[in-house]
Amino acid sequence: MRSILIMSGSPALVLRLVASAYSVAEKAGSIVRQVLHSGDLGIVEKTGANDLQTLADRLAQQSICASLSRRFPKITIIGEEELLFEDVKEELIENGQADDILQKSCPEGYKGLKEEELVVWVDPLDGTKEYTEGLLDNVTVLIGIAYGGRAIAGVINQPFYNYQVGAGAVLGRTMWGMAGIGAFGFQLQEVPGDQRIVTTTRSHSNKVVTDCVDAMEPHEVIRVGGAGNKIIQLVEGKASAYVFASQGCKKWDTCAPEAILHAAGGKLTDMFGNSYCYDANVKHMNSAGVLATLRNHDYYVSRVPQSVLQALKSD
Ligand code: AMP
Ligand code: MG
Ligand code: MG
Repeated sequence: MRSILIMSGSPALVLRLVASAYSVAEKAGSIVRQVLHSGDLGIVEKTGANDLQTLADRLAQQSICASLSRRFPKITIIGEEELLFEDVKEELIENGQADDILQKSCPEGYKGLKEEELVVWVDPLDGTKEYTEGLLDNVTVLIGIAYGGRAIAGVINQPFYNYQVGAGAVLGRTMWGMAGIGAFGFQLQEVPGDQRIVTTTRSHSNKVVTDCVDAMEPHEVIRVGGAGNKIIQLVEGKASAYVFASQGCKKWDTCAPEAILHAAGGKLTDMFGNSYCYDANVKHMNSAGVLATLRNHDYYVSRVPQSVLQALKSD
C-alpha cells in the first residue's frame, strides 16, 4: 500500500495549475457566450475605439483570476483588464481541474516548481473588437504560464468554435500545451506545399504592418482578429506565418499562444527574431511586433525589411 502511495504521488504543482487553467478557461468561455446571449455587451472604450472592453472581458477576467488565485495564492497573476478580484461573486468561481492533464507525466525540470516561481498571463477575451462585431470565431480566452521568463504552458478556449456549423455541433473547444508534454485539443496540420499564407491583424493595421506583410511575398494574406485565433490558424495549417510589425500586442496576448505553438514545434518572436520574456516585472507591450510560425521561422525573419526594423526600434 505504501509503495502505491509513493508511486502515484500527487501531481506536480505546474500540472495542477494547467489542469485548473483548463477548467477555468472553459468557465470563462461560457461567460463570454452568456454575455453575448444577454444582448447587452456593456462596451467601454479603453484607449480608443480600437481598444474596447465589454462586460464579458470584465466577468471572464474576474472569474479566471479569482479562481486561480484562491487555489494558488502565491502565484503572480497578471490580467489585461484593470480590475480587483478580491470581491468576486461566488458564481464566477471555478474549482474544476481537467483530469486528463493531472494524469500526464510532468517533465523532470518542472516537477519541483513552486508557486512563487510562476507567472500567469491572462487575456480573458482576445479579439474583443471582433466579438462586438459578431466575428465570433476570432474570439479566444488565453491563460499562459511562464517560468524563468519563458512561456512554458498555455490554455486557449475558443468559445464559439463551430458556431456556424449549426444544431448538433458542440459549441466551443479548449486547447492546451506544455513544453515537454505536447499540444492537445486540435489536429496539428501544416500548410500544404511551400505556400506562404500570412495571417495578420484586421483592425490594427498601418503602413509598416502592411509593408512587412508584403515583404514576405505571400501567396495569400488573411486578415483576422485575435492573437490566439491567429496561432490556431498556424497549428491547423490555415496560415504559415503570423506577421504583425507593430506594437499593440501585449504579454497576455502571446504567452498562452506561444506556449502552445512551441509545444507543437513552432516559434514566436519579435520581428528581429528575439524571444520575449514573460517575467512578472517585464513591460506589458510587445513593442517589437509579433512573428510566429510553425516552420521556417528564419525565412520570415530574414524577409523583414530594415525600414520595418528601424520603425519598430524607434517606437
Ligand atoms: P489583432 O491582431 O489586431 O486582433 O490584435 C491582437 C491582439 O493585440 C488583440 O488583443 C488586440 O487588442 C491587441 N492589439 C494589437 N494592436 C493593438 C493596438 N494598436 N491597440 C490596442 N490593442 C492592440
Ligand atoms: Mg488580446
Ligand atoms: Mg483581451
